[in-house]
Amino acid sequence: MKLATKFIHAGQDPDPRTGAVNVPINTSSTYKQDGVGVQRDGYEYARSGNPSRRSLEQTLAAAENGKFGRAFASGLAAETAVLSLLSPGDEVVSTPDIYGGTYRLFTKVFPKYGISFRFVESHDPAEIAKAFTAKTRLIWIETPTNPLLNIVDIAEVAARKPKDAILAVDNTFASPYFQTPLDLGADLTVHSTTKYIGGHSDIIGGAIVTNRADLDEPLGFYQNAAGSIQSPYESYLVQRGLKTLAVRMEQHQSNARVVAEFLRGHTAVEKVFFAGFEDHPGYAVAKKQMRGQPGMVSLRLQGGRPSVDRFIRGLSLITFAESLGGVESLACYPYLMTHGSIPAEQKDRIGITENLVRLSIGIEDPEDLLDDLRRALG
Ligand SMILES: *Cc1c(COP(=O)(O)O)cnc(C)c1O
Repeated sequence: MKLATKFIHAGQDPDPRTGAVNVPINTSSTYKQDGVGVQRDGYEYARSGNPSRRSLEQTLAAAENGKFGRAFASGLAAETAVLSLLSPGDEVVSTPDIYGGTYRLFTKVFPKYGISFRFVESHDPAEIAKAFTAKTRLIWIETPTNPLLNIVDIAEVAARKPKDAILAVDNTFASPYFQTPLDLGADLTVHSTTKYIGGHSDIIGGAIVTNRADLDEPLGFYQNAAGSIQSPYESYLVQRGLKTLAVRMEQHQSNARVVAEFLRGHTAVEKVFFAGFEDHPGYAVAKKQMRGQPGMVSLRLQGGRPSVDRFIRGLSLITFAESLGGVESLACYPYLMTHGSIPAEQKDRIGITENLVRLSIGIEDPEDLLDDLRRALG
């Protein structure tokens, strides 16, 4: 099956008893056992496994061209599960322009447990590889990056990775429709399903997909031991969102291009970041490893923070709110919102300036989006 078909059918056969075409939401916390140690279909207690989550996990695995999927209560819960694969003394190599919450987890939580983190201020695989040491156990890559949409060459990082290190790619921005990191040599692909996969800004969820049984097994153990699982009802909503991912991503992409081109031609705008532009520094790599671009467009406004404030207040259709990837368009101010937990000097160095606005372009009629932007910029 091709990806768009897998999103709708993988792991979602009609219910064998009733024929229900949608996977029923199974809310039972416990399952009758037919004798000592005799379980039906492997279910005993819903934290360990339940049919709604299992079905979603199969869909997610197929969607990422992987073998094993795990669904978590949030993207950060999934990331914590990845970090549970490490031990004191291990090192993680990443870049600084990752999701702010990931940066916070890396710098404020896990150093306490003896894990150290190195952030390479470059997206060049050769530069990233220079940070690898004998202790490097995890390489954490986000591409396109948040919020500047830099592109990291996944296959080149995979080729340079030390033998015992795990390459994890946060694939939240691209979604599996546009990028499948496991096909490019990643060991794990990680998602905040809250964003494009869920697609409707109505759940918080996370996922990990891998082809490696030796990684899936401890992730499954951790999921049960720590309990950071996606609930049955939310599993249903994530699965329902995933069904329309292909058509949504096509519309996000075409709307984002229209918006990015409009912004590029506007005198109130200093710079536009969109990885679908041929003059974007990551364009060639994006072309090689991605099948398209999501609805993410960032811009620097002329006139600094006061203009940002006027612009944000001037928007009426585009909502000023955290998050991304939903059907509705959102604007956010990375400097204080998504990247508020990154120190100011570092934000300046990596380009998260005070005049930067990030747009998550939804699937509304593009003319209405342009009208809103035209008014706010005016
Ligand atoms: C939102 C986000 C996360 C965190 O996910 P939650 O579901 O909010 O916990 C991680 N990575 C990226 C790229 C994100 O956008």
